[in-house]
Amino acid sequence: MTRAFNFSAGPAALPDAVLERVRDEMLDWNGTGASVMEVSHRGAAFEAMAAQSEQDLRELLGIGDDHAVLFLQGGATQHFVQVPMNIAHGASADYVITGHWGARAAKLASQVCSVRIAASSAQGGFRGLPAAGDWQLDRNAAYVHITPNETIHGVEMHGLPDTGAVPIVADMSSTLLSRPLDISRYGLIYACAQKNIGPSGLVLLIVRRDLLSRAPDSLPEIFRYDRHAAQRSLLNTPATFSWYVSALVFRWLREQGGLQAMAQRNQAKAAALYAAIDGSGGFYRNEVDPAARSWMNVPFQLRDPGLDSTFLAESAAAGLIGLKGHRVVGGMRASLYNAMTMAGVGQLVDFMADFARRHG
Ligand code: PMP
Repeated sequence: MTRAFNFSAGPAALPDAVLERVRDEMLDWNGTGASVMEVSHRGAAFEAMAAQSEQDLRELLGIGDDHAVLFLQGGATQHFVQVPMNIAHGASADYVITGHWGARAAKLASQVCSVRIAASSAQGGFRGLPAAGDWQLDRNAAYVHITPNETIHGVEMHGLPDTGAVPIVADMSSTLLSRPLDISRYGLIYACAQKNIGPSGLVLLIVRRDLLSRAPDSLPEIFRYDRHAAQRSLLNTPATFSWYVSALVFRWLREQGGLQAMAQRNQAKAAALYAAIDGSGGFYRNEVDPAARSWMNVPFQLRDPGLDSTFLAESAAAGLIGLKGHRVVGGMRASLYNAMTMAGVGQLVDFMADFARRHG
C-alpha cells in the first residue's frame, strides 16, 4: 500500500516532508555518526537542536519572555494532575467542561486540589459551548481550566472568555499550532504532541513565569515546573526522538508560512468537510452547534449505523484511514490536523458522496 490519507485523531499523521527528513537522517544525524536516538541529551548536537526548537516555537506562537516553554513527558493526562500540583496553591480551581477531556481533567485534578465546575455543556450532550453569561467564575480561583478543542466531541472555542485576573489554563492537545494565539492571554497551555505537533512521548507546556513560584515546597523536584524550567527541560532525560521530530515540524510550519497560513488552510479544510456533511441530505450528520464546530476533529454519524463497518472498510480500501469515531460517541471522526492536506480532504469528500450515492 502507498501512503494513505490518515485521519486519525492521535497519534496522527505527520507531514511527509518531515518523515522523509527523519528517514534521511536516521543513521547519521547532524554528522554525529549516530541517530538522534543514540546520542546524549547533554551533548552539543542535542542541546543545539533543543535551543533551536524552543526559538522556532517562540517565533511561531509569538511567545515572549514572560512565558517559559517546557518539553516534558507523561502525556496530557499526567498534567491533568501536575498542573494543579504546581499552581493551585491551596485555592480551588474552576473547570469549564465542554467535552470528555475537560471532564477527565477536572476529575483527575480533584485528586490533588479542590475543583469547582464553573460551567458545563454536559446536559446538551456536549454539542456546543455553555453561553459565556452562564460561566459561574470564582474571582478567587487559582485558575480557570478550559479545553479549547474537545478531540472526541468535536467542539472548539473560537474565542477566549474574559476571566479577569484569574489565569486561564488550557489543554490545547488537539489544537495548538492550528492557528495563531495571543499567548499573553494564557497563564498556562499544555498539549500532548501526538496530534498536531509530533510523536507521542512529548508534552509541550507554556507557562507564565510568575505562576512557577506557586509550587509548594513539599512538591518533589521531578514534578516541579520551576525546576524543569531552570534546567531547560533537561532535568532528566527528555523524550529525545519525539522532541527532535517536533522540532522538524516547527521548521516545516515556518516553511509553510507560519500559523496564519495554517489557520487559513485549516479553516478551508474544515469548511469543505462540514459542507459535504450538511449537504448530504441527512445521509451524514454532525450535531455540533455550527458556531462551536472544531476545525481539527470532525465527528459525524451515518443515518444508518448499520453501514458503519462498510463505510470503514470501503474508505480504508480507498486509502482513507483512521476514520473510526471514538467509542464514546460512535460513528466516524475525521481529524484534520496541520499535516492533512486539502487534497486529502477532497478525496474524503468525494468518497463520502460516492458512498452515499451507492448506499443511500
Ligand atoms: N486532552 C485532550 C484534548 C486529548 O485529545 C487527549 C488525547 N486524546 C488527552 C488530553 C490525553 O492525552 P494523553 O493520552 O497524552 O494523556
